[in-house]
Amino acid sequence: MLQFKLVLLGDSSVGKSSIVHRFVKDSFDEFRESTIGAAFLSQTVKLGKHDDVTIKFEIWDTAGQERYKSLAPMYYRNANAALIVYDVTQPGSLLKAQSWVEELKHKVGDQDLVICLVGNKLDLCAEDPNARQVDIDDAQAYAQEKHLLFHEVSAKTGVGVAQIFQEMGEKVYEQ
Ligand code: GDP
Ligand code: MG
Repeated sequence: MLQFKLVLLGDSSVGKSSIVHRFVKDSFDEFRESTIGAAFLSQTVKLGKHDDVTIKFEIWDTAGQERYKSLAPMYYRNANAALIVYDVTQPGSLLKAQSWVEELKHKVGDQDLVICLVGNKLDLCAEDPNARQVDIDDAQAYAQEKHLLFHEVSAKTGVGVAQIFQEMGEKVYEQ
């Protein structure tokens, strides 16, 4: 089975670990402990566009804290895919996501790396219309300009999560 390395990056508390757990275990935990260093999980994806092809993602879920920042290159080096997460209710987290995009483009180049920008905690916007602090059009325009995939999701309800990995799977397989 073809295996691909996927790394999650983004500010702490944006929901990186929650997205991975939704994808790998289809569960959500309100009181998830924050990640120390990095966590490793793997999961397979059956590709829709390519009959009978199943790929495996080896997922490195990094800690967002500044004190672990020097470890990040160890996880994004040789990565095939990067999921850069922000929280749609925290505008500062989009700025952080953008700085990760710049770092990846600078250090890795984008030829072989599929990058997806992900706005998480979409469920909070449904609960309270004032909760949204990042305009979807702004984030999408940025993603387009940088040639990134883009999704808004909720790790809590699960909406959009499977699509991220499906789309990234298709893309890494095709290149
Ligand atoms: P990480 O530091 O980026 O790995 O973030 P975590 O996955 O540890 O999540 C941080 C906090 O946000 C936890 O309390 C989660 O329960 C919460 N959280 C994560 N995803 C969502 C989501 O989609 N919606 C809501 N409402 N809360 C979320
Ligand atoms: Mg985490």
